[in-house]
Amino acid sequence: MSASVALVWLRNDLRSRWHSPLDYAIEHHQQVRAVYCLTPVQWQQYHYALCKVNLIIARLLALKNELAQRNVELTVIDSVDYEQSPQTIVDFCQQYKVEAVYFNAEYEWDERVRDKQLKMLCEAVDIKVAKFHDTCIVRPELLHSKQSTPYKMFTPYFKTWLEALYRQFPAPQTLSVASDTTISADEIDLTRYYQESQVAHYAASFDSIQNQLNRFIAERAPDYGLVRDFPAMDGTSHISHLLAIGALSAKQCVFMLQQEYGEKLSEPGHGVHIWLKELAWRDFYRYVMFHFTHVNKNLPFQKHYHQFKWNTDQTHFEAWQEGMTGYPIVDAAMRALRTTGWMHNRLRMVVASFYCKHLMLPWRWAEDYFMSQLIDGDFASNNGGWQWSASVGTDAAPYFRIFNPTAQSEKFDPQGEFIRRWVPELAALPAKQIHQPSKYVDVHTLAYPLPIVDHASSVANTKLQFKQFIELSQQ
Ligand code: FAD
Repeated sequence: MSASVALVWLRNDLRSRWHSPLDYAIEHHQQVRAVYCLTPVQWQQYHYALCKVNLIIARLLALKNELAQRNVELTVIDSVDYEQSPQTIVDFCQQYKVEAVYFNAEYEWDERVRDKQLKMLCEAVDIKVAKFHDTCIVRPELLHSKQSTPYKMFTPYFKTWLEALYRQFPAPQTLSVASDTTISADEIDLTRYYQESQVAHYAASFDSIQNQLNRFIAERAPDYGLVRDFPAMDGTSHISHLLAIGALSAKQCVFMLQQEYGEKLSEPGHGVHIWLKELAWRDFYRYVMFHFTHVNKNLPFQKHYHQFKWNTDQTHFEAWQEGMTGYPIVDAAMRALRTTGWMHNRLRMVVASFYCKHLMLPWRWAEDYFMSQLIDGDFASNNGGWQWSASVGTDAAPYFRIFNPTAQSEKFDPQGEFIRRWVPELAALPAKQIHQPSKYVDVHTLAYPLPIVDHASSVANTKLQFKQFIELSQQ
């Protein structure tokens, strides 16, 4: 009798544990294969950062061995046309006599269309297809308001999210091994995509990723609420890039928090609860993308803002990208992003508010730019973060809540430590002067620019533009 063969299609879930499709396949079939399609053209269309591509490749190289330990062979198919990827999977299935294809749901619109196409093609040739739900901690389909409509605000969503979480808390599956081995000695050659230097300091192997998560949860999570807003401190988990490519499971994070902290997890003021809430924000933006599909199509959540007239000043856009706005905290953050591929959440909010509310530039440009730089670039979180900052998304606060970049700098980088690290021109200034150097010194002598816009007048103008727009759209 020939072995029953299953295929697990890996996408943004590049791990060998905490993976329901894989566990299910191993339990129900003798032979299990895994496949990953490299789609370089799509990466370009989605503005993937080079460092993110390199992280995916580094992860695939490590994953090949990790899957082999479960007797699962990983095949990487190169240069797949994204729209053709369902057909590529069906061809693969026919080549290896695969009976069933398993994968984790993705909630972006194009990905949903792709998965429907896969189901259709597979069913036409008698291949079973099953979708699993590890992408979010709580599946978007399960949460809705008392009126059976999807939530539009985070706070009521979070309340229901917590109830759903406690009703069915994530649990690890057994770590079984496929009974028939298919492991070949073939190496996967990904050298043409790979510049190790881009990701050398990032954890890519299972052990190093687990160590990073364990250390954060055991040592730093309790203080998260106190230190998370200070960019010069190492106060956050730094796992967003691992969650973005699925090298780490968000469900595992929650499970480990519960194991370590038990009931403290539900205490609102406790650091671990605050961290849990951040993981819920990640789910929330996927939820928004799932229920309000127009946000996938370059449209704001609040649709009428599509007509809003943003400025299109290229010199301002370039100054912002290059970290030459004359606002030291903005410039430090933008220069750090270019060099490291990562930005602290507080700084993402500060630079985004400055971009949307001081420069009044189109949030879509910045969304693409962030994706092109971020190692953790993730459509839902990035799109949600930008729409929130531009006041066109799900934020409960009105448009006139505008961050003052100097006040934010004084509050969250009081000694100017972070600024000194990234804006060497200002390194010698005392803490009092570093947040607003043009007020105290002739910045030209430091080769640092004057502020490209005046805080008070640009904020006043933005408020006026928003007010007039709202009045017009209500007529
Ligand atoms: P921690 O503070 O340790 O939080 C743990 C995890 O919770 C994060 O890894 C992340 O997965 C999730 N999380 C935390 N804050 C948020 C948030 N505001 N929204 C959604 N999820 C959150 N995050 C991305 O993963 N990819 C992006 O492309 C992205 N773009 C953003 C763009 C803007 C304009 C803004 C304001 C935020 C963006 N974020 C994005 C959210 C957030 O800044 C990062 O997730 C966070 O800085 C990652 O650092 P960390 O892993 O140390 O997070």
